[in-house]
Amino acid sequence: MLSNKRTIITGGTDGIGFGIAKAFAENNASVFLIARDEENLKKSAATLSQFDVEVHVLSADLSNISTIKKTTQDILNIWPEVDVLVNNAGIARFNPFTETNEEELDLHLNLNVKAPYILTQQLFDALAARKGSVINISSYFSHRMLPGRPSTAYSLSKGAMDAFTKSLAYEAGQRGVRVNAIAPGTVNTPLVQANINRLTDEGKTKFDEMIGTIYPLGRIGEPDDISGATVFLASDQARWITGAILAVDGGLTTN
Ligand code: NAD
Repeated sequence: MLSNKRTIITGGTDGIGFGIAKAFAENNASVFLIARDEENLKKSAATLSQFDVEVHVLSADLSNISTIKKTTQDILNIWPEVDVLVNNAGIARFNPFTETNEEELDLHLNLNVKAPYILTQQLFDALAARKGSVINISSYFSHRMLPGRPSTAYSLSKGAMDAFTKSLAYEAGQRGVRVNAIAPGTVNTPLVQANINRLTDEGKTKFDEMIGTIYPLGRIGEPDDISGATVFLASDQARWITGAILAVDGGLTTN
């Protein structure tokens, strides 16, 4: 389905990003993973080698905005043209508004907003050269809140990502580039596990009860629940879809 599509996935070593990397490789895309942890990058590349596709990895801290130009140049030296950019790397911390300090706010804005913006900007000519597409991994938290999960910094960042998706889609269409977002519901990943681990025992019980109540499909998602939609949006089957924010959330946002 994605034969020979050169695909860059930020945060492609864990959770949703790794699920996407596997699905793209299974569909014969070449993949380029950008993530922080070198060991995880090596492990992920080893797993992906079973699919007999081109795999590249690059270690970078995308929250350090001043280094993104260098990261992009390193990518372009290997792939001067690119078909798909999946802006997936992100952070989510849930603290009450009055306890969210500037450092935490900056981390959300840098990694979840500025990094995808600047990376996409730096790669834009390379994407336009192949009439490629951008897929932003947003979140239902851009427009729906959960009890016990105070999320102003995270919600602000994902709301910005949705606005970026639509506004860039409007401009980028003229260069033949499509821009879409996926808004996952809660997905069982290291990021979510880390947040659950911070809850008290009582908090964990309440969380489980809440999931059973608010998800029409009765469960949280797994990374593989997200990757199929990502493959579809990157494929030629989605050639007339741009500016869409696709909820992949077990029905969470139906109510
Ligand atoms: P995760 O923490 O499990 O994995 C994050 C990935 O991003 C890892 O590969 C990590 O190396 C990379 N990463 C983190 N910080 C980085 C940095 N500073 N520089 C470079 N890479 C970095 O996360 P996840 O749960 O798979 O989430 C992935 C995306 O999906 C995020 O944008 C998140 O906001 C979004 N999302 C997640 C959920 C969920 O429930 N898990 C729900 C909605 C949206």
